[in-house]
Amino acid sequence: MVEIKTAAETEAMAEAGKVVAAALAAVAAHARAGVSLLELDQVARTVMDESGARSAFLGYRPSFAPTPFPAVICASVNEVIVHGIPSGYRLRDGDLLSVDFGVYLDGWAADAATSLVVGTPRAQDTELIRTAEAALEAAIAACVPGGRLGDIGHAVTRIGRAAGYGVPDDFGGHGIGRAMHEDPHVPNRGRPGRGLPLRPGLVLAIEPMFTAGGGDGYVIAADGWTMSSADGSRAVHVEHTVAITEDGPRVLTRP
Ligand code: MG
Repeated sequence: MVEIKTAAETEAMAEAGKVVAAALAAVAAHARAGVSLLELDQVARTVMDESGARSAFLGYRPSFAPTPFPAVICASVNEVIVHGIPSGYRLRDGDLLSVDFGVYLDGWAADAATSLVVGTPRAQDTELIRTAEAALEAAIAACVPGGRLGDIGHAVTRIGRAAGYGVPDDFGGHGIGRAMHEDPHVPNRGRPGRGLPLRPGLVLAIEPMFTAGGGDGYVIAADGWTMSSADGSRAVHVEHTVAITEDGPRVLTRP
């Protein structure tokens, strides 16, 4: 069932969104060569604890997962697309890191992700990230009353395909509110003008993910979580929580 949020509920979600934005900014600031993924998880925990929020990821166990998620961030490096589990791995110069983070604050969820290059970027990684961010912005711009859910996925895929990137199937965004994952599923594919009508009070997490090699395939590691590109190419993932308002899209997780 698709939940429609009141203006007051959307404001409460914006407060959760501020925590997510602050934590992601702190993690990005700490992501340097030699820093471990577990250390980055601790950076996010500190921001979260100081804000009185609780993790939406820690202990989360969706139907596909064999074990509860053991951390507060997903840290996905290079060919990992999403759901990387923070480990003792120490970042290296040139690594492409995606960090996904979600919280509950006063009973309301917010969820976002950012991708960055550690140290010296390769031009192709900079372009991969820039394109994913452009796709996210185009998808956000589609979040207007009178639009349709298919407009969002269409915007993502159109931009990814134009750059020659793969768009992994099955995974995408979601409605968000009292629960991190609510209806509707927000695919990264879509036909313009089709699907659920978008209306004020709908709040969606939109999360483009692309693979540089152009393949749409993915593989899940033995841990049941880590999702990597099947062709081994580097992947990018960015995400914002977006409220559809009478005045158009309002991004709740923007720094
Ligand atoms: Mg999400």
